[in-house]
Amino acid sequence: MGEMLGVRCSNCGICCEETMMEISSEDIERLEEKGFRLEEFAVIDDAVTRLRNVDGYCYFYSRADKKCRIYNDRPLGCYLYPVVYLANEGAIVDELCPMGQTISEQELRTKGKILDKHLKKIENESAHKIRIAYSLESIATLKATVLPLCFRSHFTVTVFPSSLIYTTLPKCPAS
Ligand code: SF4
Repeated sequence: MGEMLGVRCSNCGICCEETMMEISSEDIERLEEKGFRLEEFAVIDDAVTRLRNVDGYCYFYSRADKKCRIYNDRPLGCYLYPVVYLANEGAIVDELCPMGQTISEQELRTKGKILDKHLKKIENESAHKIRIAYSLESIATLKATVLPLCFRSHFTVTVFPSSLIYTTLPKCPAS
């Protein structure tokens, strides 16, 4: 990822400890292209995909080197840090970051806008995942309840990214 704004990281590792960093589909694709496997570096938490912690630190943090192993490809949220988003305050500089005072008002505004867009994208993707999960659950319920009754029924169920489409149901002999 190219650097849009100056980097002033002291490598303290605070932001990589017990990370809750949310990641988008673009972050995931970039990391998978580098050969990392999603199930190893991420967890799903309430339909939000986050970086996984291992022994208290982000999967990608090297405690030996005190460095991020994927610094140039790190998730956008890590790139924007120490600008973080609080629900009732908007974009702020995380007071835990020792380099936080180096963030100018202009940088806060710029990164804040990017972060806002990024978080909305993740939120949309989460809603999308919930819809798919719901759809799949509906199929499972359908199979468990309707199909055993309709032993002669043949119908197909197609899952589209955001919706569940049932083809016309044939008449069920059990109805
Ligand atoms: S991806 Fe890198 S910068 Fe982001 S939390 Fe993990 S180790 Fe830290």
